Amino acid sequence: MILILLGPPGCGKGTQAKKLLELKKWPQLSTGDMLRQAIASGTDLGKKAKVLMDQGSLVPDEVVIGLIDERMSRSDCVDGFTLDGFPRTIPQAQALDQLLTQKNKAVGRVIEFDILDSELIARLSGRRTCTQCGSMFHLLFAKPKVDQVCDQCQSPLIQRDDDKIEVIQKRLSVYHHQTAPLVEYYKKQNKLTSINGSLGTQEVSQLIESIIAHTASVN
Ligand code: AMP
Repeated sequence: MILILLGPPGCGKGTQAKKLLELKKWPQLSTGDMLRQAIASGTDLGKKAKVLMDQGSLVPDEVVIGLIDERMSRSDCVDGFTLDGFPRTIPQAQALDQLLTQKNKAVGRVIEFDILDSELIARLSGRRTCTQCGSMFHLLFAKPKVDQVCDQCQSPLIQRDDDKIEVIQKRLSVYHHQTAPLVEYYKKQNKLTSINGSLGTQEVSQLIESIIAHTASVN
């Protein structure tokens, strides 16, 4: 199945996409991760994307559409994949539909995470990432054993530039203006299911599994 996890930054899409990789072997296609890899490799695309990402803006549609087109054409995607952070605009959703139609495929289901901005701000502003291995921690919900140090590899933890409060507010505003219209787009296609994104990780996982099972049984 091709599953889209749709929701604002910090709603838990990435965590759930990783669980689906374990459970269903569906690769996690995260345009945010792809762009961060391009930044880490120092490519021209990465350099241009970093300026926009650091200020909380979206990178151009054609850039992320190109990344997704290449990634979903790889062999590990034949049995299905999870889209995490893509599409984020109506033109991206239209391009995705076109690309999938060319491959005789279609989006199976879109799960929208419904959650208040105030909760997202608390989640994102406390997030800390390991500079070396990428492990994630949280100052309130998943504290490292030693302050500012990774439990896995003992490297320093940092706050992502785009998890700083001014940038979080910009990212949320971008979500409400540019991404939220996708809710209507997929509702019209009868593909949308909304879930309460403020539930715990396990409860959200169980909801997602039952939505997938139900979708599979009616298709
Ligand atoms: P994420 O990790 O998904 O929150 O993405 C981090 C940043 O990468 C976003 O704030 C955007 O600047 C950029 N980005 C990721 N995915 C997209 C997308 N589908 N369209 C445009 N920009 C994106």
